[in-house]
Amino acid sequence: MTGLRQYVADFVRDTEGADRATALGAQFDAGLAWVHHPEGAGGLGLGPDRQAEVDAVLSAAGRLESWERNPMGIGMVAPALMVHGTPAQRALLRPIFTAEHIWCQLFSEPGAGSDIAGLATRAVRDGEGWVVDGQKTWTSLAHAARFGLALTRTDPGAPKHAGLTAFLIDMHAPGVRVRPLRDLTGGAHFNEVFLDGVRVADDARIGGVGEGWAVATTMLASERAVIGGSVGERGSGAIAMAVETWRRTGSDPGRRAELIRLWVDAEVLRLAALRDQRTRAEGGPGPGGSGLKLRRALLEQRIARFALELLGPAGLVYDADAVRANGPAEGDPVWTWLQSQAYTIAGGTSDVMRTIIGERVLGLPREPGLPRDTPWSQIPR
Ligand SMILES: Cc1cc2nc3c(=O)[nH]c(=O)nc-3n(C[C@H](O)[C@H](O)[C@H](O)COP(=O)(O)OP(=O)(O)OC[C@H]3O[C@@H](n4cnc5c(N)ncnc54)[C@H](O)[C@@H]3O)c2cc1C
Repeated sequence: MTGLRQYVADFVRDTEGADRATALGAQFDAGLAWVHHPEGAGGLGLGPDRQAEVDAVLSAAGRLESWERNPMGIGMVAPALMVHGTPAQRALLRPIFTAEHIWCQLFSEPGAGSDIAGLATRAVRDGEGWVVDGQKTWTSLAHAARFGLALTRTDPGAPKHAGLTAFLIDMHAPGVRVRPLRDLTGGAHFNEVFLDGVRVADDARIGGVGEGWAVATTMLASERAVIGGSVGERGSGAIAMAVETWRRTGSDPGRRAELIRLWVDAEVLRLAALRDQRTRAEGGPGPGGSGLKLRRALLEQRIARFALELLGPAGLVYDADAVRANGPAEGDPVWTWLQSQAYTIAGGTSDVMRTIIGERVLGLPREPGLPRDTPWSQIPR
């Protein structure tokens, strides 16, 4: 056993029997939350490739927790705080890791999704602080969130990417109103968020004034890397559901080759994600995560469609009321297919992923459009 593995094994033994929140807090304090973070920030200052060793020992002990306990907090906000946050703001990392504070991402608006740099929510200076007004939408988990990370416009006269500033929003502050949106599965995972005269202190600003696009880029690249690059056990997840559905519906030999093709594609993607995780640079994810995100979205939709087709007419039967009442019907092929429709939209659409890959990975010419130095206030909307 290497030194790190032994250290994790000792940690597991020392925290045996602790309740979940205490164990996660102890994991952060031991530097085993994100080993590439500095000591005191949930890490040990090691290379990011060493996290796999930690996770292997935790997994063998049944102690590896999914990032999905706080997807936006762990997947996006923590990396952004490490790059752009002040030392005081990094104190928020521990409750993010333990999921004591659920976070949401306040980016998309009714008039700005793919073109997120075109957003209109305003933050205006008011004495020592700021006042935020606007509307966000599709905000996952806003109904459960303690904090949100909002992208706002602070300088309408500047080019759209240059006039943005990021703020930490207290979701319990006066002026924050959350209205659930129901999706086609029957669930209500995302929301509209109305920000009416929300007062924000200047020390809740993340990064410099006018530097919000850099914060957004860190968050979005992290989001794509997490969505595309999460690595489960071989044969687990959606493909396990498809294999189980194939067996349950009579193991049709006519569709066996198709199932094997999907299984192989899932395994190739899993190995690509594993390689990406191991070789990712210290500075965090780059545009390459967009490739994994694109591939995963399309593959999960193919798998879900395959399983749905195996059901035949039974695939038309769906109990949305049960989902409303009890939450996601994980493992149900019909729910999985309905849910999979979101994968090519959430976290940036597949069209946008292709543009990022074209421009930033392959070096193709930029998309045509207005010159990047056009002031936001002069862009037609
Ligand atoms: C399940 C789910 C959860 C989400 N959670 C969050 C969240 O927590 N926080 C948050 O801020 N947002 C969230 N979103 C919003 C998501 O980021 C946006 O829906 C997405 O970026 C697309 O924006 P839009 O819906 O405005 O579509 P639009 O940008 O209006 O796109 C409409 C269509 O036009 C295409 N299109 C647009 N621009 C281009 C272009 N330049 N080139 C080629 N095609 C283009 C798109 O691909 C799409 O097909 C979530 C969305 C979903 C589905």
